[in-house]
Amino acid sequence: MRLYVAVLALASLLSASLAHAHGGGCRKSSPPGQCCHMQSSTGQVHCH
Ligand SMILES: [Zn+2]
Repeated sequence: MRLYVAVLALASLLSASLAHAHGGGCRKSSPPGQCCHMQSSTGQVHCH
């Protein structure tokens, strides 16, 4: 059970870092609490 929790924690950590792997700073026009930026792979702006 302890191993399962460790794997789960690692997985969420990994996905969190992957979610920001394409970052490059937030746009100045980003709404408060959000970070909008251009995703170079798609050429589109998205916020999260
Ligand atoms: Zn993004």
